[in-house]
Amino acid sequence: MEKPKESERVLRAVELAKKAHEGQFRKTGEPYIVHPMAVKKILEEWGMDEDTIIAGVLHDTVEDTAVTLDDIRKEFGESVAFLVDGVTKLSTARAGMRDIDTYLPETRDNFLRLLIALGADIRVLIIKLADRLHNIRTLSALPPDKQKKIAKETLEVFAPLADRLNMGQLRVEMSDLAFKYVDPKRYDYLKNLIEEHNRQAAKSLKKIEGEISEALKKEKIKFELSGRVKSIYSLHKKMAKHNQNINEIYDLTALRIIVEDVTTCYLVLGVIHSLYTPMEGRVKDYIAMPKQNGYQSIHTTVITEDKRVVEFQIRTREMHEYAERGLAASFYYNEQKVTENYKAGKIEHLPTNLLWITELQQTAAKLREGKKVDLEKLKLNLFADKIFVYTPKGDIVDLPKGSLPLDFAYRLHSEIGDHVVGVKINGKMSNLNKKLEQGDIVEILTSKNQTPKSSWLSKIFTSHARAKLLHRLNEKEHQEQTKGRK
Ligand code: MN
Repeated sequence: MEKPKESERVLRAVELAKKAHEGQFRKTGEPYIVHPMAVKKILEEWGMDEDTIIAGVLHDTVEDTAVTLDDIRKEFGESVAFLVDGVTKLSTARAGMRDIDTYLPETRDNFLRLLIALGADIRVLIIKLADRLHNIRTLSALPPDKQKKIAKETLEVFAPLADRLNMGQLRVEMSDLAFKYVDPKRYDYLKNLIEEHNRQAAKSLKKIEGEISEALKKEKIKFELSGRVKSIYSLHKKMAKHNQNINEIYDLTALRIIVEDVTTCYLVLGVIHSLYTPMEGRVKDYIAMPKQNGYQSIHTTVITEDKRVVEFQIRTREMHEYAERGLAASFYYNEQKVTENYKAGKIEHLPTNLLWITELQQTAAKLREGKKVDLEKLKLNLFADKIFVYTPKGDIVDLPKGSLPLDFAYRLHSEIGDHVVGVKINGKMSNLNKKLEQGDIVEILTSKNQTPKSSWLSKIFTSHARAKLLHRLNEKEHQEQTKGRK
């Protein structure tokens, strides 16, 4: 792609920032202007619109120099001023959060507070992410205690945010850079582990790549094949889930196949399964059922002849762009449309199912008007990844990840929930403590004589089921009291 000529507005912003930051230096010893220029470059790489790029250039001027918000408004317009103000509020001692203290006293969840403060214009968040990315890239210049603090915050707040926006590339770079500071020993250990694994797998991977390529060519399928590198931080998190047993991590070796359209994705899946044995329960169709952040792909894990476990990820070019660059990619593809929608105060035309952003903006607006909102519900919708499970009849039920059989039962109907005596998962007897997994077929066994038990409260994950159960328990208690008095 040819680099478009720098617009006159952007050049003016660069001149203003240079003058304003004159004589200031970063901890690295470089002139301060290096930082806003790096943020500018990142935003350009993400394909952001001109106002965002200008605001990126100017993002530290109001806080650190004599330039005022009014100056920016006069020179560059309302939209740029709004973005700079948003970023400034976020960085000045989290003033953005203090602002929302007044209308959001009941939540101590910093992540949620940050999101709501940002809810007004998602581009503020994107500038903040670019700012943080450059800061974490240059973190080595800071004293160790500051390094740890910033790295930790990056892992806890900014990397999950990047994930929420489906900015995969950013998430991986940020979290691996930060993890290195938070736990250097663990980082080195896992890095070696992955490298060693890759060395061992290299030869058979070459063979697999050859076999797949040949089979796809035979089917006259146009494709791009590449290996994907597993992020060290995500391996760290996965290892914790699997008792540190690396043999249970099935996506250490993964190959990505990019094709032209959705139909071809399924064709490729068929070709792969005709070559290798798919592992049971490891086919995930995120094309038909995208992840909540809009991620789409088909995943399948197979076992090769020489007993290698390999994950394949199949997707279209557009899905790939979106998985790597997320929300930024939608700006790129849809800039005009999205910008117009921002101006009109609505963003329902986001090209993916990033509905949580709309929800966030609505919530932010309500809070500013002093209306009450259900924060628990918002939190659940924002943070819980969904799983899809099935009734024996094949009806699909979506539940937050972590849900248990009783959540499923109460979701179907309170009457079913109240009379649970057992559960069959995928045709086998199971128990009420068993976490449901994506794609499970769940059959609830009931008995007329069963009544709700208070011990069930510990076997429930969703607030929905908890509310229903508590209601029944209260009713029951009330009935028993009245009975006792008779
Ligand atoms: Mn900055």
